[in-house]
Order: sequence, then structure tokens, then C-alpha cells
Amino acid sequence: MQLREVKLFKFLFYGINISSMLRIDIITIFPAMFDPVLNESIMKRAQAKKCVDFRVHDLREYSNDSHRKVDDRPFGGGPGMVMTAQPLVDAVKKIKGRRKGVKVIYMCPGGVTFSQAIARHLSREKGLILICGHYEGIDERVRELVVDTSISIGDYVLTGGELPAMVVVDAVTRLIPGVLGREASLDDESFENNLLEYPQYTRPADFCGKKIPLVLSSGNHLAIKNWRNAQAVARTQKFRPDLLKEKKG
Ligand code: SAH
Repeated sequence: MQLREVKLFKFLFYGINISSMLRIDIITIFPAMFDPVLNESIMKRAQAKKCVDFRVHDLREYSNDSHRKVDDRPFGGGPGMVMTAQPLVDAVKKIKGRRKGVKVIYMCPGGVTFSQAIARHLSREKGLILICGHYEGIDERVRELVVDTSISIGDYVLTGGELPAMVVVDAVTRLIPGVLGREASLDDESFENNLLEYPQYTRPADFCGKKIPLVLSSGNHLAIKNWRNAQAVARTQKFRPDLLKEKKG
């Protein structure tokens, strides 16, 4: 490629990047829960930099019920309430509109377990709609009609999908190019290349008699790189040997 072509490519790529900023819509009965998380720190900066567009929707606004009800008793009996299909299906349809390539994700303990690989995949999507469930969950027909994937953040049950949605939003957003200051720092992070990150140290070099490994202050970049690689492998071997097995396989 000629220099001019490279410049044109960069310009187009940059242009496309801006126009295809990731939009994340969240459907919840507790919209206020998201304010502190989305409007602080890196999530706030990501929006200001136009890397991501967060929109939080109050599910009750979509209910046809005069009391803005969004739940009902389960058919077949049993404890608790189930979120009704109408508000959820209408909300998804309205929020999606005519946009193509929007992934609808239901936060669900029975979904696929969230991982760095899934976060990376989602960070490249055009649009995500996250549904936060409550009570005993949602009417199964919502999944059949509008949900593309269900994601769990781990094998435990929470009271609602809000915290799981925040986990997904945070992990995905920090992977969007331009959100974190130094992109390079992402490559060494835990779970990239199926390794945990090496130990990190900062000033002072001697804390309570515990000194930093000498190599880190040697200025020898190759030696530092090798030390960090070896530490990452050793640490993974010790705490998460399952990751190394995946790496080989
Ligand atoms: N009765 C359901 C649990 C409902 S928990 C069951 O046994 O599967 C209520 C809501 O919290 C769910 O609808 C889901 O949106 C959310 N939730 C709870 N735990 C979760 C987890 N580990 N990952 C993702 N979402 C979760």
C-alpha cells in the first residue's frame, strides 16, 4: 500500500469507527441503578469520547397495563412472579427499530458463562440490547420472540439482571478502541492468551522490608519481558491450570 492509500484507509476506517459507535440499550425496572456506574470514571469518559452510547430504559414505560405492571403469577403455580412478555417484547422491538445487526441479550443464570472472549466479541458489535430480569425470571416466549443469546455472569443467583448487565457493559466498553489510554496494556491482561497477568509493583521499591524483584529496575527490557512471561505462566499454572490446558488444545 502507498502512503496515500494508507492515509485514506486510516481516514475511512476512523470514519466508519465513529459512525458505528457501539450503542448499548439496557431494559430494566430499576433505571436509577445504572446512573452511578455509567456516569463515573471510564464509563463516563467512554461516552464523552463518543466511543459508546448508553441508553437506559424503564421497562414500566412500555407496559400496556394501566398500573404499569410488568409481572404476573406463573402458570402452573409455584412461588414468586414472572415478568410478562408484552412490555419486554414491545420494548425490544421499539428500541431496536429498523436497526440491523443488533444483538438482544437476556441476563440469565442459565445462559452461557460470560468471559473475556465474549466481551471482546460483543465489543465489536454495532448494537446490544441487554434485558435485566427480576423475580423468577421472564416469560419464556420473550426468549423465543426477541432474545438472541442469554448470558450468565457465574453460577449463582442474583435478585436481578442489573448487576450482571453492568458487569457486561464494563467489560465490553473498556475493550472498545480509544476507551483506555494505552491500548497496548490490554494485550498483557489476564485471560488474554489464556494467561493470568504477571505481578505488578509500583513505588516505593522497598515496602515494609519487601523489595521489588531486581529485574524490574534493571532497565533491561528483554529481561523484564522474559521475567513477566515466566511469572504469568507460573501464576496461571498455580491458580488457573485449566487456562493452560485450553491454550494447548
Ligand atoms: N428463577 C430463576 C432466577 C431468577 S433471578 C432461575 O432459577 O434461573 C432474577 C433475575 O436476575 C434473572 O431473570 C436474571 O435476569 C438475573 N440474574 C440472576 N442471576 C444471574 C446471573 N448469574 N447471571 C445473569 N443474570 C442473573
